[in-house]
Amino acid sequence: MNGSKYDVVIVGGGPGGLSAAVHLSKKGLKVKVFEKKKILGTPVRCGEYFPVKAEMEKLVPRVKNLDVIDAPPESVDTTCRSIRMISPRGHEFEFPFAAYILDRHIFESHLGEIAQSHGADIDIGIQAHYFPDDQGGWVGPTREKAVHGDIIIAADGYPSETAERAGLPERAYAGPYAVATNIEYLMTDLNVEQNVAEMYMDPRYSPGGYGWIIPKGHGRANVGIGIREPYVRRDWQIRDLLTGFIEKNAVASKRLAGGNKASMIGDSLPVDGP
Ligand SMILES: Cc1cc2nc3c(=O)[nH]c(=O)nc-3n(C[C@H](O)[C@H](O)[C@H](O)COP(=O)(O)OP(=O)(O)OC[C@H]3O[C@@H](n4cnc5c(N)ncnc54)[C@H](O)[C@@H]3O)c2cc1C
Repeated sequence: MNGSKYDVVIVGGGPGGLSAAVHLSKKGLKVKVFEKKKILGTPVRCGEYFPVKAEMEKLVPRVKNLDVIDAPPESVDTTCRSIRMISPRGHEFEFPFAAYILDRHIFESHLGEIAQSHGADIDIGIQAHYFPDDQGGWVGPTREKAVHGDIIIAADGYPSETAERAGLPERAYAGPYAVATNIEYLMTDLNVEQNVAEMYMDPRYSPGGYGWIIPKGHGRANVGIGIREPYVRRDWQIRDLLTGFIEKNAVASKRLAGGNKASMIGDSLPVDGP
Protein backbone atom coordinates (compact mmCIF):
# COMPACT_ATOMS: atom_id res chain seq x y z
CA MET A 1 0.00 0.00 0.00
CA ASN A 2 1.53 3.35 -0.93
CA GLY A 3 -0.08 5.23 1.97
CA SER A 4 -1.81 8.04 -0.03
CA LYS A 5 -5.30 8.74 1.26
CA TYR A 6 -8.30 10.16 -0.57
CA ASP A 7 -11.88 10.90 0.35
CA VAL A 8 -13.03 9.25 -2.88
CA VAL A 9 -11.27 6.92 -5.31
CA ILE A 10 -13.00 6.39 -8.67
CA VAL A 11 -12.24 3.37 -10.85
CA GLY A 12 -12.94 4.34 -14.48
CA GLY A 13 -12.56 7.67 -16.25
CA GLY A 14 -15.51 7.44 -18.64
CA PRO A 15 -18.31 10.03 -18.55
CA GLY A 16 -19.72 8.51 -15.32
CA GLY A 17 -16.45 8.49 -13.36
CA LEU A 18 -15.28 11.87 -14.64
CA SER A 19 -18.65 13.53 -13.90
CA ALA A 20 -18.47 12.16 -10.34
CA ALA A 21 -14.90 13.51 -10.10
CA VAL A 22 -16.05 16.98 -11.24
CA HIS A 23 -18.95 17.18 -8.77
CA LEU A 24 -17.03 15.77 -5.79
CA SER A 25 -13.82 17.76 -6.32
CA LYS A 26 -15.92 20.93 -6.69
CA LYS A 27 -17.30 20.21 -3.21
CA GLY A 28 -13.74 20.19 -1.86
CA LEU A 29 -13.29 16.43 -1.52
CA LYS A 30 -9.90 14.88 -2.24
CA VAL A 31 -10.52 12.74 -5.34
CA LYS A 32 -8.46 10.24 -7.32
CA VAL A 33 -9.46 8.69 -10.66
CA PHE A 34 -7.84 5.66 -12.31
CA GLU A 35 -8.46 5.19 -16.06
CA LYS A 36 -6.96 2.29 -17.98
CA LYS A 37 -7.14 3.94 -21.42
CA LYS A 38 -4.06 5.92 -22.41
CA ILE A 39 -6.17 8.85 -23.66
CA LEU A 40 -9.49 9.91 -22.10
CA GLY A 41 -12.46 9.13 -24.35
CA THR A 42 -10.38 7.21 -26.92
CA PRO A 43 -11.23 4.84 -28.49
CA VAL A 44 -14.83 6.03 -28.58
CA ARG A 45 -17.46 3.36 -27.93
CA CYS A 46 -20.62 5.38 -28.35
CA GLY A 47 -23.16 6.81 -30.79
CA GLU A 48 -22.32 10.14 -29.10
CA TYR A 49 -25.98 11.23 -29.01
CA PHE A 50 -26.38 13.46 -25.95
CA PRO A 51 -29.71 15.20 -25.15
CA VAL A 52 -29.36 18.90 -24.28
CA LYS A 53 -29.97 19.84 -20.66
CA ALA A 54 -33.55 21.11 -21.27
CA GLU A 55 -34.53 17.72 -22.73
CA MET A 56 -32.87 15.87 -19.83
CA GLU A 57 -34.94 17.95 -17.40
CA LYS A 58 -38.11 16.86 -19.21
CA LEU A 59 -37.00 13.21 -19.22
CA VAL A 60 -36.39 13.10 -15.46
CA PRO A 61 -38.80 15.73 -14.07
CA ARG A 62 -38.56 14.47 -10.50
CA VAL A 63 -34.80 15.08 -10.28
CA LYS A 64 -34.42 18.54 -8.78
CA ASN A 65 -31.42 20.72 -9.68
CA LEU A 66 -30.25 18.38 -12.40
CA ASP A 67 -26.59 19.28 -12.63
CA VAL A 68 -25.71 18.26 -16.19
CA ILE A 69 -22.24 19.41 -17.19
CA ASP A 70 -22.46 21.57 -20.31
CA ALA A 71 -20.76 20.29 -23.43
CA PRO A 72 -18.19 22.89 -24.55
CA PRO A 73 -18.80 24.11 -28.14
CA GLU A 74 -15.60 22.49 -29.44
CA SER A 75 -16.91 19.05 -28.35
CA VAL A 76 -20.13 19.38 -30.38
CA ASP A 77 -19.83 17.83 -33.85
CA THR A 78 -23.40 18.72 -34.77
CA THR A 79 -26.77 19.53 -33.17
CA CYS A 80 -29.99 17.64 -33.89
CA ARG A 81 -33.37 19.34 -33.60
CA SER A 82 -35.49 16.18 -33.91
CA ILE A 83 -35.64 12.40 -33.81
CA ARG A 84 -37.21 10.41 -36.61
CA MET A 85 -38.50 6.95 -35.71
CA ILE A 86 -38.81 4.47 -38.57
CA SER A 87 -41.20 1.55 -38.09
CA PRO A 88 -40.49 -2.00 -39.33
CA ARG A 89 -42.68 -1.24 -42.37
CA GLY A 90 -40.83 1.97 -43.14
CA HIS A 91 -43.34 4.50 -41.76
CA GLU A 92 -41.61 7.62 -40.48
CA PHE A 93 -42.58 9.60 -37.36
CA GLU A 94 -40.64 12.73 -36.49
CA PHE A 95 -40.80 14.71 -33.26
CA PRO A 96 -38.77 17.57 -31.85
CA PHE A 97 -35.97 16.58 -29.48
CA ALA A 98 -32.78 18.61 -29.17
CA ALA A 99 -29.48 16.79 -28.79
CA TYR A 100 -25.78 17.33 -29.29
CA ILE A 101 -23.72 14.84 -31.21
CA LEU A 102 -20.51 14.95 -29.26
CA ASP A 103 -16.92 14.15 -29.93
CA ARG A 104 -16.59 12.05 -26.79
CA HIS A 105 -12.82 12.30 -26.72
CA ILE A 106 -13.02 16.11 -26.51
CA PHE A 107 -15.95 15.96 -24.07
CA GLU A 108 -14.24 13.52 -21.69
CA SER A 109 -10.95 15.45 -21.87
CA HIS A 110 -12.97 18.54 -20.90
CA LEU A 111 -14.49 16.73 -17.90
CA GLY A 112 -10.99 15.61 -16.87
CA GLU A 113 -9.66 19.17 -17.09
CA ILE A 114 -12.50 20.55 -14.94
CA ALA A 115 -11.95 17.84 -12.31
CA GLN A 116 -8.19 18.52 -12.29
CA SER A 117 -8.79 22.28 -11.98
CA HIS A 118 -10.64 21.50 -8.73
CA GLY A 119 -7.74 19.40 -7.46
CA ALA A 120 -8.66 15.85 -8.57
CA ASP A 121 -5.77 13.50 -9.41
CA ILE A 122 -6.33 11.55 -12.62
CA ASP A 123 -4.02 8.63 -13.42
CA ILE A 124 -4.34 7.55 -17.04
CA GLY A 125 -3.14 4.28 -18.56
CA ILE A 126 -3.51 2.35 -15.29
CA GLN A 127 -5.75 -0.68 -14.89
CA ALA A 128 -6.71 -0.50 -11.24
CA HIS A 129 -8.10 -3.14 -8.89
CA TYR A 130 -10.11 -2.74 -5.73
CA PHE A 131 -8.94 -4.31 -2.47
CA PRO A 132 -11.77 -3.80 0.04
CA ASP A 133 -11.31 -3.07 3.73
CA ASP A 134 -13.89 -2.05 6.33
CA GLN A 135 -13.44 1.70 5.69
CA GLY A 136 -13.76 2.00 1.92
CA GLY A 137 -10.68 0.27 0.62
CA TRP A 138 -7.52 0.34 -1.48
CA VAL A 139 -7.31 0.84 -5.24
CA GLY A 140 -4.32 0.57 -7.54
CA PRO A 141 -2.60 -1.46 -10.23
CA THR A 142 -1.28 -3.77 -7.48
CA ARG A 143 -1.88 -4.07 -3.75
CA GLU A 144 1.57 -2.56 -3.09
CA LYS A 145 0.87 0.55 -5.20
CA ALA A 146 -2.73 1.03 -4.05
CA VAL A 147 -4.06 4.27 -2.53
CA HIS A 148 -6.77 4.41 0.12
CA GLY A 149 -10.25 5.86 -0.36
CA ASP A 150 -12.98 6.30 2.26
CA ILE A 151 -15.47 5.94 -0.59
CA ILE A 152 -14.86 3.90 -3.74
CA ILE A 153 -16.89 4.54 -6.90
CA ALA A 154 -17.17 1.66 -9.37
CA ALA A 155 -17.34 3.60 -12.67
CA ASP A 156 -15.50 0.95 -14.66
CA GLY A 157 -18.39 0.21 -17.02
CA TYR A 158 -20.16 -3.10 -17.55
CA PRO A 159 -19.41 -5.63 -16.17
CA SER A 160 -17.69 -3.84 -13.27
CA GLU A 161 -14.87 -5.75 -11.61
CA THR A 162 -14.90 -3.16 -8.82
CA ALA A 163 -18.60 -3.72 -8.07
CA GLU A 164 -18.01 -7.47 -8.17
CA ARG A 165 -15.16 -7.19 -5.65
CA ALA A 166 -17.40 -5.03 -3.45
CA GLY A 167 -19.95 -7.85 -3.33
CA LEU A 168 -22.33 -6.29 -5.87
CA PRO A 169 -22.24 -8.88 -8.67
CA GLU A 170 -23.88 -7.00 -11.55
CA ARG A 171 -24.06 -10.11 -13.68
CA ALA A 172 -26.28 -11.76 -11.06
CA TYR A 173 -29.07 -9.20 -11.48
CA ALA A 174 -28.43 -8.15 -15.07
CA GLY A 175 -30.05 -11.10 -16.84
CA PRO A 176 -29.86 -11.53 -20.63
CA TYR A 177 -32.91 -9.30 -21.20
CA ALA A 178 -31.21 -6.46 -19.28
CA VAL A 179 -27.99 -6.37 -21.32
CA ALA A 180 -27.68 -5.05 -24.86
CA THR A 181 -24.83 -5.59 -27.29
CA ASN A 182 -24.19 -2.58 -29.50
CA ILE A 183 -22.09 -2.43 -32.64
CA GLU A 184 -21.50 0.60 -34.80
CA TYR A 185 -19.61 1.87 -37.82
CA LEU A 186 -18.40 5.40 -38.29
CA MET A 187 -19.46 5.94 -41.91
CA THR A 188 -18.15 8.64 -44.22
CA ASP A 189 -19.04 10.12 -47.63
CA LEU A 190 -22.72 10.22 -46.74
CA ASN A 191 -25.42 12.66 -47.67
CA VAL A 192 -27.60 12.22 -44.56
CA GLU A 193 -29.56 15.09 -42.97
CA GLN A 194 -27.32 16.68 -40.37
CA ASN A 195 -29.96 17.85 -37.89
CA VAL A 196 -32.11 14.73 -37.53
CA ALA A 197 -31.15 11.52 -35.73
CA GLU A 198 -32.91 8.41 -36.99
CA MET A 199 -33.89 5.40 -34.89
CA TYR A 200 -35.05 2.25 -36.67
CA MET A 201 -37.34 -0.37 -35.16
CA ASP A 202 -36.49 -3.40 -37.26
CA PRO A 203 -36.63 -6.81 -35.56
CA ARG A 204 -34.95 -8.43 -38.58
CA TYR A 205 -31.68 -6.54 -38.10
CA SER A 206 -31.86 -5.23 -34.50
CA PRO A 207 -33.79 -7.93 -32.59
CA GLY A 208 -34.64 -6.77 -29.06
CA GLY A 209 -33.23 -3.31 -29.76
CA TYR A 210 -33.06 -0.74 -32.54
CA GLY A 211 -30.83 0.66 -35.24
CA TRP A 212 -29.58 4.23 -35.60
CA ILE A 213 -28.13 6.77 -37.99
CA ILE A 214 -26.64 9.61 -35.97
CA PRO A 215 -25.15 12.44 -38.09
CA LYS A 216 -21.68 13.64 -37.11
CA GLY A 217 -21.12 16.48 -39.57
CA HIS A 218 -18.87 16.59 -42.67
CA GLY A 219 -20.74 13.72 -44.38
CA ARG A 220 -20.15 11.36 -41.46
CA ALA A 221 -22.57 9.39 -39.26
CA ASN A 222 -22.47 6.82 -36.48
CA VAL A 223 -24.48 3.91 -37.86
CA GLY A 224 -25.25 1.04 -35.55
CA ILE A 225 -27.57 -1.51 -34.02
CA GLY A 226 -28.27 -2.64 -30.47
CA ILE A 227 -29.58 -6.16 -29.88
CA ARG A 228 -30.50 -8.34 -26.93
CA GLU A 229 -29.36 -11.93 -27.00
CA PRO A 230 -32.64 -13.72 -26.14
CA TYR A 231 -34.17 -12.24 -29.32
CA VAL A 232 -31.33 -13.35 -31.60
CA ARG A 233 -31.29 -16.68 -33.44
CA ARG A 234 -28.21 -18.74 -32.61
CA ASP A 235 -26.83 -18.76 -36.15
CA TRP A 236 -27.01 -14.95 -36.50
CA GLN A 237 -23.79 -12.92 -36.20
CA ILE A 238 -24.13 -9.34 -34.98
CA ARG A 239 -21.81 -8.03 -37.70
CA ASP A 240 -24.04 -9.63 -40.36
CA LEU A 241 -27.09 -8.03 -38.74
CA LEU A 242 -25.44 -4.60 -38.99
CA THR A 243 -24.54 -5.26 -42.63
CA GLY A 244 -28.16 -6.31 -43.22
CA PHE A 245 -29.40 -3.09 -41.60
CA ILE A 246 -27.12 -0.96 -43.79
CA GLU A 247 -27.77 -2.81 -47.03
CA LYS A 248 -31.31 -4.20 -46.73
CA ASN A 249 -33.43 -2.00 -44.45
CA ALA A 250 -35.58 -0.29 -47.09
CA VAL A 251 -35.17 3.22 -45.64
CA ALA A 252 -31.66 3.03 -44.14
CA SER A 253 -30.15 1.50 -47.28
CA LYS A 254 -31.28 4.54 -49.32
CA ARG A 255 -29.92 7.01 -46.76
CA LEU A 256 -26.56 5.22 -46.59
CA ALA A 257 -26.09 4.49 -50.29
CA GLY A 258 -22.56 5.32 -51.46
CA GLY A 259 -21.18 5.64 -47.91
CA ASN A 260 -17.96 4.06 -46.70
CA LYS A 261 -17.23 2.30 -43.43
CA ALA A 262 -14.31 3.96 -41.65
CA SER A 263 -14.09 2.12 -38.32
CA MET A 264 -16.09 -0.26 -36.16
CA ILE A 265 -16.71 -0.45 -32.42
CA GLY A 266 -18.83 -2.62 -30.18
CA ASP A 267 -19.59 -3.16 -26.52
CA SER A 268 -22.18 -4.51 -24.07
CA LEU A 269 -24.11 -2.34 -21.67
CA PRO A 270 -26.94 -2.71 -19.17
CA VAL A 271 -30.27 -1.33 -20.42
CA ASP A 272 -32.40 -2.27 -17.42
CA GLY A 273 -32.14 -2.93 -13.71
CA PRO A 274 -30.55 -0.91 -10.89
C1 LIG B 1 -21.98 1.22 -29.80
C2 LIG B 1 -22.51 2.05 -28.65
C3 LIG B 1 -23.26 3.19 -28.92
C4 LIG B 1 -23.74 3.98 -27.87
N1 LIG B 1 -24.41 5.13 -28.16
C5 LIG B 1 -24.80 5.97 -27.17
C6 LIG B 1 -25.39 7.24 -27.46
O1 LIG B 1 -25.54 7.62 -28.62
N2 LIG B 1 -25.75 8.03 -26.42
C7 LIG B 1 -25.56 7.65 -25.11
O2 LIG B 1 -25.91 8.42 -24.19
N3 LIG B 1 -25.01 6.45 -24.81
C8 LIG B 1 -24.61 5.62 -25.79
N4 LIG B 1 -24.01 4.43 -25.49
C9 LIG B 1 -23.85 4.08 -24.08
C10 LIG B 1 -22.74 4.88 -23.45
O3 LIG B 1 -21.55 4.73 -24.19
C11 LIG B 1 -22.54 4.40 -22.01
O4 LIG B 1 -23.78 4.46 -21.33
C12 LIG B 1 -21.53 5.27 -21.28
O5 LIG B 1 -20.27 5.20 -21.90
C13 LIG B 1 -21.41 4.78 -19.85
O6 LIG B 1 -20.48 5.61 -19.20
P1 LIG B 1 -19.65 5.08 -17.96
O7 LIG B 1 -18.71 6.16 -17.58
O8 LIG B 1 -20.60 4.55 -16.94
O9 LIG B 1 -18.88 3.78 -18.49
P2 LIG B 1 -17.81 3.65 -19.65
O10 LIG B 1 -17.99 4.68 -20.71
O11 LIG B 1 -17.83 2.20 -20.03
O12 LIG B 1 -16.45 3.99 -18.92
C14 LIG B 1 -15.81 3.08 -18.07
C15 LIG B 1 -14.36 3.45 -18.07
O13 LIG B 1 -13.69 2.65 -17.10
C16 LIG B 1 -12.45 2.26 -17.63
N5 LIG B 1 -12.04 1.06 -16.89
C17 LIG B 1 -12.62 -0.16 -16.91
N6 LIG B 1 -12.00 -0.99 -16.06
C18 LIG B 1 -11.01 -0.26 -15.48
C19 LIG B 1 -10.01 -0.56 -14.51
N7 LIG B 1 -9.92 -1.77 -13.95
N8 LIG B 1 -9.14 0.41 -14.16
C20 LIG B 1 -9.22 1.65 -14.73
N9 LIG B 1 -10.13 1.98 -15.66
C21 LIG B 1 -11.02 1.04 -16.02
C22 LIG B 1 -12.72 2.03 -19.11
O14 LIG B 1 -11.53 2.12 -19.88
C23 LIG B 1 -13.69 3.16 -19.42
O15 LIG B 1 -13.04 4.33 -19.87
C24 LIG B 1 -23.51 3.60 -26.52
C25 LIG B 1 -22.76 2.45 -26.25
C26 LIG B 1 -22.26 1.68 -27.29
C27 LIG B 1 -21.45 0.45 -26.97
